[in-house]
Amino acid sequence: MRHRTSLTASLSAVALVGAAAAAAPLAATAVPVNSHCGLEPGNNNDAFVNHDQLSKELDRIERTSKGAVDVEVAGYSNEGREIYQARVGTGDTVILVQSQIHGNENHGTEALLSLLKEFGGNTAEAAMIRENVTIVAIPRLNVDGGENDTRQNAMSWDDVLAAFPQLEGVEPAWNYRESVPGFDVNRDFNPDLDYVPQPEDFPGSSADTGWYITPEAQTVRDVYGGLEDEFGTVDYFVDLHNQWSCYSQEGTNNMSPLSISGRFIADPTEFGDWPEFDYDASRRANVAVYDALQGQGNSGLGHLTLYPQDINLPGTALGSFALRGSATVLFETSSQTQYDGQKRNGFLTKQVEIGLKGLVTAVADGSIADLDPDDYEEIPTRVFEAPDDRRPSN
Ligand SMILES: [Zn+2]
Repeated sequence: MRHRTSLTASLSAVALVGAAAAAAPLAATAVPVNSHCGLEPGNNNDAFVNHDQLSKELDRIERTSKGAVDVEVAGYSNEGREIYQARVGTGDTVILVQSQIHGNENHGTEALLSLLKEFGGNTAEAAMIRENVTIVAIPRLNVDGGENDTRQNAMSWDDVLAAFPQLEGVEPAWNYRESVPGFDVNRDFNPDLDYVPQPEDFPGSSADTGWYITPEAQTVRDVYGGLEDEFGTVDYFVDLHNQWSCYSQEGTNNMSPLSISGRFIADPTEFGDWPEFDYDASRRANVAVYDALQGQGNSGLGHLTLYPQDINLPGTALGSFALRGSATVLFETSSQTQYDGQKRNGFLTKQVEIGLKGLVTAVADGSIADLDPDDYEEIPTRVFEAPDDRRPSN
């Protein structure tokens, strides 16, 4: 299916998760102290687990949880690395959460390792969570990008043609970067889980659905489809990303270390008939995350903001799965690996843990049903802050 590409949609797509710095205007907000806007050295990737360490850590979590956490290989990347899924809990409500679909966005992976350990533990709280929800985590979906420190996966257009010979002669997908070579996996999703790539659907655009041509998106599709078979609907889908280091909160001088969102589809009827699409469920889920991070004193943990809402991205995992009826939450933590150093990693990982645990707990104890979806609209919006070397000196 093809759709019109509006200027708004194209610009928004450039801005989604990562590349906003070049296009955004200088903000009028005062420059906060310790803004970390480009002053720290990059090449931060060594601060996080590598694939071998991730494999060992998941194995350790599985063993020490004494059966509470089950780890399986859900798929394989093009470079032959395992893509893991870890499952904990036996409740009737299912929460699927993935991290690092963009390989240079690591904090969510570290947060998931920590939370899997906690949810698999022997506290009364962990037992309550396990009884009421089933959590399926895919930590570091883009295992090749994680190891290579690239946003994209590791896949050439020739690899695509070998798998899908019907695409011979078409222009490569718009989200392909030949210099890597690889794909932005987070544009490879389609709300139709049975979709087969068709030549007429290429090169596509950010305003259109994707194709499941990458092994990473195929793996998530298969996990998601399996959970639908088991639970009917995948109740919640959470995607953990990183964004530009420097945003502030509208109306304050606070730096905002995290943006969240539940809005990825402008009009669900544009993409067919999706009767389970439930925007209010997404808004409640985001309010649960927001609430969990309030009341933390001067830590900065409460200064999260709302990601831009004027977007329409059906080819993202969030967009496609929202159409199928999942309540969706995007986490955009400050800083990709190239942007700044290791100073804030502990804090940035912790805020993902607190926010995600807040959602899981609200689902497990049922309190999410009492949240007002309109509170979502009160979350402060995000203001771009330029790198320190591009700020006016006064
Ligand atoms: Zn991302």
